[in-house]
Amino acid sequence: MMEIITKSNIFGTVRCHMYSIEWQKAGLSHAHILLWLTNRIQTNEIDSVISAELPDQNLNKNLFEIVKSHMMHSPCGTVNFDSPCMKGIKCSKRFSKAFLKVTETGADGYPSYSRRKPEGLYYSNSWP
Ligand SMILES: [Zn+2]
Repeated sequence: MMEIITKSNIFGTVRCHMYSIEWQKAGLSHAHILLWLTNRIQTNEIDSVISAELPDQNLNKNLFEIVKSHMMHSPCGTVNFDSPCMKGIKCSKRFSKAFLKVTETGADGYPSYSRRKPEGLYYSNSWP
């Protein structure tokens, strides 16, 4: 994957990179990847390279099920105060997230990723 990202320039020309691969609990492994691009991705281009939405289950049911099973935040908040992410009455991971038309970058350095609300459906990064 790193060869594809760095040699095919899918995000642009890569000046340098680093990554680490982690395994958490019994879930899928994941990578934290830092790319330093020759040309910085502008704020209005973020949504073209990052998605925080579930795959369309009508187009790829298998991928939808994998993401739903392994990549979603478990129930917390008012439906599960005993969740390990809870600090007092708040989720320490800032779930659940608001629906946003486009990604916004916050003053605290954390992005709020675009998460469109599908027509007639309710998807969330955490279980509703
Ligand atoms: Zn939580």
